[in-house]
Amino acid sequence: MKNWWEKRDPSGWIDLAGESIVRPQDLPARLSADTLRRDAVAAVFPMKVNPYVLSLIQSAEDPIGLQFIPHPAELEDTGRSSDPLAEERQSPAPQVIHRYPHRVVLLVSNQCAVHCRFCMRKRRMADPGQVSHALIERGIAYIRGNASITEVILSGGDPLMLGDDQLLSILQDLRGIPQVRLLRMHTRVPAVCPRRITESLARRMSAFHPLYINIHFNHPLELTPAAMTACHRLADAGIPLGSQTVLLKGINDDARVLCQLMEKLLFNRIRPYYIHQVDRVPGTAHFQVPIQKSLQLMNGLRGKLSGLAMPHLMIDLPGGGGKVALTPEVVVARQKDHWLVRNWEGKIYTYPCG
Ligand SMILES: *Cc1c(COP(=O)(O)O)cnc(C)c1O
Ligand code: SF4
Repeated sequence: MKNWWEKRDPSGWIDLAGESIVRPQDLPARLSADTLRRDAVAAVFPMKVNPYVLSLIQSAEDPIGLQFIPHPAELEDTGRSSDPLAEERQSPAPQVIHRYPHRVVLLVSNQCAVHCRFCMRKRRMADPGQVSHALIERGIAYIRGNASITEVILSGGDPLMLGDDQLLSILQDLRGIPQVRLLRMHTRVPAVCPRRITESLARRMSAFHPLYINIHFNHPLELTPAAMTACHRLADAGIPLGSQTVLLKGINDDARVLCQLMEKLLFNRIRPYYIHQVDRVPGTAHFQVPIQKSLQLMNGLRGKLSGLAMPHLMIDLPGGGGKVALTPEVVVARQKDHWLVRNWEGKIYTYPCG
């Protein structure tokens, strides 16, 4: 029998739909509470939970269940803008988001291995099918014609939902553009569908160095042996790995959970990169952590974690202003010739500023 990731529709993308649960009423008995209300949510924001992720969920209210099982609270803030970051306005060509001078995002896939309930691109979740190759080629043509673009970030959806050949041909096209020095991919697949990361895929991707991969992990329970095997494969292929985490109320807004997550990531050669405030799209308000609390959590990490494991806390400014790192306030007072600075234990020190 063929492996599922070799099952592709004619356009070459990976179709997991047949294996995934897309209706709350089809969830196993342990997750069947409140099904009617959850069905109403899934009618607005589609659900998709694959068998691997399902196996990690014990209850709808545990840290994995809360990320993937539709929750009635999602219908309480549907009046929000679905594109607060103005990604559509900053799209000069199909599938391209060009917000910064030298780096662009190229959206190569509409599909994900699962639907995260807090997704910033929730507006695109219902898109059927996959991005057409013609559209991706127009995006690539825009990049080719723009001499100042030195970095391309493949995102989506999830780029690893493309078939191997299609993904590699996009990497190949981008590598053929002289000014593009750096390739990067943002994916959740190693965490939510680890068997997709085959030896052969990792080996073939290693032909495109420097290629960086940032993987979305939110909770230590996601760092299963299978997920770590997938990550080790990528790291062994020489691909530097980073992590991105979305701060989520009731899931990981806890200093002990975050410490454990960041440490485990680092021990597995995944360098923590960003922790994001959840973007304010419809259906996500119940995940929002107040920014003051986020800063306190970051303060709790400093000093306890290796500097290598310290991510930046990022907000993405509404209206397309871009990402900004927030840091806990460490300068308590600024005198003429010295500053008063607070260390990780809360003690105040004098530092000459001349
Ligand atoms: C996040 C993002 C990037 C990448 O930002 P880094 O800080 O380099 O990780 C680039 N373009 C857009 C539109 C983004 O949203
Ligand atoms: S994997 Fe990423 S893009 Fe896909 S649903 Fe989750 S957060 Fe959104």
